[in-house]
Amino acid sequence: MEGTSLLPLPQGLQMTHLEKLETSLMIHVLSTHPTCRCPLCHAESDAVHSHYQRYLKDLPCCGQQLCLQLTVGKFFCQNQQCQRKIFTERLPEFVQPWAHTSNPST
Ligand SMILES: [Zn+2]
Repeated sequence: MEGTSLLPLPQGLQMTHLEKLETSLMIHVLSTHPTCRCPLCHAESDAVHSHYQRYLKDLPCCGQQLCLQLTVGKFFCQNQQCQRKIFTERLPEFVQPWAHTSNPST
């Protein structure tokens, strides 16, 4: 199924597959950024700790519920001085419109 035109993804995000659920369509998206900046000290890290999955949903599309499973990286902060040992990759430009949709109060 051709899904790349369904959801415009910023650079570094890759759609892995689409899953048709009973009442919704689940889009699996993987972040492929090799490095990430620590949100606390802004040091760039390429030491991946693990991967973290988050779910974004509630965006109706063509009468169907659209869900997004986003896999992002967890990184070690390589700055010895930094209090933040591990941080999760954030994709605010991409996640915020979705987060906003699913949590109107925040
Ligand atoms: Zn840091």
